[in-house]
Amino acid sequence: MNALARNPADRVVVVGGGVAGLATALRLAPRPVTLVSAEPLGLGTATGWAQGGIAAALGADDAPELHVADTLAAGAGLSERDVALRVAAAGPGLIAWLVALGVPFDRGAGGALALGLEAAHCRRRIVRSGGDATGARVLEGLVRAVQAAPSVEVVAARVTDLLRDGNGAVAGVVCERDGAGFRIPARAVVLATGGVGALYAATTNPRGATGRGLALAARAGATLRDMEFVQFHPTAIAAGADPMPLATEALRGEGARLVDEQGAPVMAGVDGGDLAPRDVVARGIFQALARGRTVFLDTREALGDRVAARFPTVAALCARVGIDPARQAIPVRPAAHYHMGGVKVDARGASSVPGLYACGEVASTGLHGANRLASNSLLEALAFAGFIADGLEAAPAGPVHPAGPSARAEIDHAALRALMEARVGVVRDAAGIREAVARLAPVAETNDAALTALLVARSALGRQESRGAHWRSDFGGQQAPRHSEITLGALAETLPAAEALS
Ligand SMILES: Cc1cc2nc3c(=O)[nH]c(=O)nc-3n(C[C@H](O)[C@H](O)[C@H](O)COP(=O)(O)OP(=O)(O)OC[C@H]3O[C@@H](n4cnc5c(N)ncnc54)[C@H](O)[C@@H]3O)c2cc1C
Repeated sequence: MNALARNPADRVVVVGGGVAGLATALRLAPRPVTLVSAEPLGLGTATGWAQGGIAAALGADDAPELHVADTLAAGAGLSERDVALRVAAAGPGLIAWLVALGVPFDRGAGGALALGLEAAHCRRRIVRSGGDATGARVLEGLVRAVQAAPSVEVVAARVTDLLRDGNGAVAGVVCERDGAGFRIPARAVVLATGGVGALYAATTNPRGATGRGLALAARAGATLRDMEFVQFHPTAIAAGADPMPLATEALRGEGARLVDEQGAPVMAGVDGGDLAPRDVVARGIFQALARGRTVFLDTREALGDRVAARFPTVAALCARVGIDPARQAIPVRPAAHYHMGGVKVDARGASSVPGLYACGEVASTGLHGANRLASNSLLEALAFAGFIADGLEAAPAGPVHPAGPSARAEIDHAALRALMEARVGVVRDAAGIREAVARLAPVAETNDAALTALLVARSALGRQESRGAHWRSDFGGQQAPRHSEITLGALAETLPAAEALS
């Protein structure tokens, strides 16, 4: 008997087939779960592309408190200590859970887990699989477990709306498959729909990462937090592919250097040089490109022929775009990579709307603050999957209706991506952001990608300071740390003024 037939009133719908959705579905067992994914399991996720690894305080010289300190430092005043501590403390147990599911993590000579070092971590604590293939291996393990789980039913469809009951609680989803719509009522919905990178012309994210889950949550009345914080990875491979393949930061950790077309170091004179924090390097490269230089990541001297064995994923991605990193420098540029902001959730992953939860990149848990510490996002998704399963309670579903008007009007997606890249990108100012707001506002009501982009832009306009990944060329200083929050209602109130300013 499948999950739907056994106990429909108790069903939880999980939207998304990445680490967050799969782990939540497994953690909820034996409660019946319908996992809805826009693409077949294993495809279309950022999870499968994760190269670095998963941070966990496993070393003899490490402790969750040290991991917390690094997380708070990266978060630039907006990471929350209690959240960071809960997530860091869960890390070792989560790695053990993945090992039990059969994920083959890399091990040292004695059989212990091999722990890698990444920028801004004070200890070796990055757990990897297949060198730089961690995401793919984790995804494989989770998909296998979900396919074997009797409590999980998988539905291939795109969620286009949330259902709400008479009290305003979220009570199911509206799906679309092959042009046909259908509803799945549920006692709770967990959004695990990933990030927003595909709203930008240059991105490392899959095409589907347009932040639709954020628009669904906003239309249902949920509060979104810190939407302006988009992390740009400094070294996406600039060789014509879209999405852009990633050249992991670990390459610079192994001595690869950022140089221009003359071979001159790009990060010369900047504190930390090539190993400066991610946002600093992204801005350094952005400014070099703006001055007409071309930027390369040169692995030839540091790694030479070893690059293929040490970084097989990067070597394969380079080969696909005709680059041999053992002989040629890799052209790179910053690209939208990770969204720190999202649906504001509490300690059990619950949003401000009853019955609606969020996990993974779509959520704002308070962990990442203004800047994510490398390898903390897979960890956060795994940790909150457990917190949601432990805390999930919801009323049985009553009569339901869609949360808001269906938002599927066609827009020029390439133009939207170019606009976000140019006006709400690595370096922003009021004039540019206002232009983005004015152009997005008229189409946001009828298109989810435009609504999410508008929420990012409007939040960026409101943060009149430079903090973490949000860099305003017109506001270099910092104010007292504060989160930004936005709802659809609050957005609508600000729009006439913002448009008038354009
Ligand atoms: C190239 C790259 C490298 C990275 N490296 C690392 C790393 O080393 N360590 C680390 O911790 N993090 C890394 N990250 C970040 C990390 O991979 C992501 O933050 C994380 O995988 C997000 O997981 P998720 O489950 O939230 O979203 P995803 O894995 O993106 O999954 C989202 C899912 O939602 C589905 N979906 C979306 N909208 C709908 C809808 N409307 N209806 C139905 N389904 C929908 C998608 O089809 C997909 O199945 C990397 C990211 C990238 C892009």
